[in-house]
Amino acid sequence: MVRYVYDFTEGGRDMADLLGGKGSNLAEMTRLGLPVPPGFTLTTEACRAFLETGSEPAGLWREVSAHLAALEASAGRSLGQPDDPLLLSVRSGAKFSMPGMMETILDIGLNDDSVLGLAKVSGSERFAWDSYRRLVQMFGSTVMGVDSSRFEQSLALLKELRGVQDDVRLPASDLAELVETFKNLIHLETGDHFPQSPAEQLRRAVMAVFESWNGERARVYRRREHIADDLGTAVNVQRMVFGNLGSDSGSGVAFTRDPATGRPGLYGDYLPDAQGEDVVAGIRNTVPLAELERLDATSYDGLRTHMRTLERHYRDLCDIEFTIERGTLWMLQTRVGKRTAEAAFVLAAALADEGLITPDEALDRVSGEGLARLMFPRFDTDSTGTALAHGVPASPGAAVGAAVFDSAQAVRRAAAGEKVVLVRQETTPDDLPGMIAAQAVLTSRGGKTSHAAVVARGMGKVCVCGAEELTVDTEARRFTAADGTVIREGTIVSVDGSAGAVYAGPVPLVDSAVIRYLEDGSGDGGSQYVVDAVARALARADTVRRLEVRANADTPEDAERARRFGAQGIGLCRTEHMFLGERRELVEQMILAGTDAEREKALADLLPLQRQDFVAILEAMDGLPVTIRLLDPPLHEFLPDPTELAVRIASAQARGEDPDAHDAELLSAVNRMHEENPMLGLRGVRLGLVVPGLVAMQVQAIGEAVGERLLAGGTPKAEIMVPLVGDVRELRLVREEVQRVLAEVSRAAGVALDCPVGTMIELPRAALTAGRIAEEAEFFSFGTNDLTQTTWGFSRDDVEAEFFSAYLDKGVFSTSPFETLDREGVGRLVGIAVAEGRAVRPDLKIGVCGEHGGDPDSVHFFHTAGLDYVSCSPFRVPVARLEAGRAAL
Ligand code: PEP
Ligand code: MG
Repeated sequence: MVRYVYDFTEGGRDMADLLGGKGSNLAEMTRLGLPVPPGFTLTTEACRAFLETGSEPAGLWREVSAHLAALEASAGRSLGQPDDPLLLSVRSGAKFSMPGMMETILDIGLNDDSVLGLAKVSGSERFAWDSYRRLVQMFGSTVMGVDSSRFEQSLALLKELRGVQDDVRLPASDLAELVETFKNLIHLETGDHFPQSPAEQLRRAVMAVFESWNGERARVYRRREHIADDLGTAVNVQRMVFGNLGSDSGSGVAFTRDPATGRPGLYGDYLPDAQGEDVVAGIRNTVPLAELERLDATSYDGLRTHMRTLERHYRDLCDIEFTIERGTLWMLQTRVGKRTAEAAFVLAAALADEGLITPDEALDRVSGEGLARLMFPRFDTDSTGTALAHGVPASPGAAVGAAVFDSAQAVRRAAAGEKVVLVRQETTPDDLPGMIAAQAVLTSRGGKTSHAAVVARGMGKVCVCGAEELTVDTEARRFTAADGTVIREGTIVSVDGSAGAVYAGPVPLVDSAVIRYLEDGSGDGGSQYVVDAVARALARADTVRRLEVRANADTPEDAERARRFGAQGIGLCRTEHMFLGERRELVEQMILAGTDAEREKALADLLPLQRQDFVAILEAMDGLPVTIRLLDPPLHEFLPDPTELAVRIASAQARGEDPDAHDAELLSAVNRMHEENPMLGLRGVRLGLVVPGLVAMQVQAIGEAVGERLLAGGTPKAEIMVPLVGDVRELRLVREEVQRVLAEVSRAAGVALDCPVGTMIELPRAALTAGRIAEEAEFFSFGTNDLTQTTWGFSRDDVEAEFFSAYLDKGVFSTSPFETLDREGVGRLVGIAVAEGRAVRPDLKIGVCGEHGGDPDSVHFFHTAGLDYVSCSPFRVPVARLEAGRAAL
């Protein structure tokens, strides 16, 4: 018999799959003996069953009724009891937090009768009618589908009529009138009445929360956060406690440490005489939590004690929501808090120091993605000039973009390739698409725990909120700073999420403190604590990881940087990049050579240049392996564009002149070499087999460079890699040539040359015949860019294609397979090639040098697949080191 409902006393934090994050944590707090209003949770399984069939699963309501009866018995009153009503909140709570994305309905149990009872027992008519007003409004929009702005408009109208700014100033009679207006509005819009039966209210509220799982904003959020669509949400039904019962009541949100920096201290916002929703919505400006100490020292002390309990129990930063009802403190929610990348590193190190977590746990608490964020440049504080305004530094980083004032505009401009900053008074869940599209979010209202701050932090997006000196006029699409500066839509602004400042115009960027540390080990006064925390995480990762990390580099500068960033060699040196610039002409001569002699001349001219390149790179990576790949791309990439040539020739003719003979010759060669699908054409190993002398020249350059380095007392470790092999015979032919040339160079230079020869595995056929290929290969390196292209049949040069975003939208995949390795398909080929390659040659060295080598999720896969190393761009090297360490935990 499936069970759909659990009392808070029955659950625990390890039940998040079933009870959702909020439900499992409420249960955990209940078990810890913290003051949690009693309640129960309907499971995610109930939600899934409801969403699948469109109706309530059998037996669900029987269980709910039994739990409700128990709740009523313990409270000594019943739901909506006319003289003293028990009131309930109904809140969503999925396994992964989706702040504000689903529905909440409060004050369930109020109706035309019980509102009078509530007025009597609470001693406040105003409070009772305000609660009823809130219920009708929330129920009307969430459950009955009336546009929420209709209610807002009525409320605003009444406030205007009465000449008041704040809801708090409306007397009970006005609120009672508003309830009538709202009820009429519901009837008018839906033809249905607001239900007076408390039981019906509860039932319909629960179903509405289930349904909100599939609401538009929830779906957008899940896609962005890669949360599966089939998890469903739990629903928490809990006794209401009230923060809006006067000045001895209030609601707040708090963090056990600063979620922006990770530093110790009690952070949060408090709003006297308000419900929790008012705090998060940023509708009224909150006061800092420290103020609570002055307002209600007993509750403040209680809160601090509970927060210490929670942090020690969860062994992590927690965020909490609390309410004080007439001097009694209630804990309404806790969870392991979202934090910035910086805070993640700082916290992990601090908690390890405090002995709350082990060094391995500390490593597991940080991420490569977070590290990458800390490596982004920041604003050059010497050239920022005067800020337009300061606000709360809610989510760090530096962003420059055009100011836009609504979500739709942000999405539109970003889609057209523009960088934008979304400016709002405060954000709501409806702004989510715009927040995703923007570089930064700027609000004039709300604190560190406002919607804008929480969501931006979760997404790693730059955010400054509560910049109160700014007047944001979304209608007129502009904001005005205190000094009178007006910023209109489209004007560039710079947002410093670390300092909480906003500037007009673009502010120049400088390297981050972490980059400077990686570059030369230098410290940084202000952010030394971040640098230290990052250094510790990397050191731990280096201790535990099994995967080596190499870099893709084809210049000595890149090689040196990669080495400073911790690379243990070069996994891919693309020689084609050495054929560009002024050398292009030589390549052109080689391609166009009419005779062997001409070609040999061109190759002979290229030889010393190539040798020089290799000497410099081998020197930069002295003692570490350098995998040099033979020329790969289609040759026509080195020739001029045929359209340009044709235009040049045609305009010469139009002027009555003879076209340049060289141009005509070039054009016919380019046309001769034209391929419809060059990426599947004459490239890779195929070039080596059909262009005489090419492999020999490159290998001679490598051999001579190694010889030169040896004679100079170095320890060069060149490896020669053959690209785009599909069959062992291709590799065998090239390898014979390589060995012949190496033997010649060795004889001529009088040095022994030991250069392993291996191949890329970047075609499905290579993966499927890896056992055969391993007979000729001393190492494999997966070229997962081409392997993804050829496995899926997606052109890697057209990944921005329209259909890719459709695929992402329709959920065919949640990230591009060119970014994160497709484990199921491409990963399977990798698995086959590793197994079959090693079966033939047990000591086969295997790595990867496609872009996936620097992608965190893919690094974990390569660890599990048993690779020896990953190779990625120099800037991703620290990320790969960190993730390789985490993969080994
Ligand atoms: C690859 O295909 O993954 C690879 C590393 O080679 P390239 O990107 O140069 O084709
Ligand atoms: Mg390739």
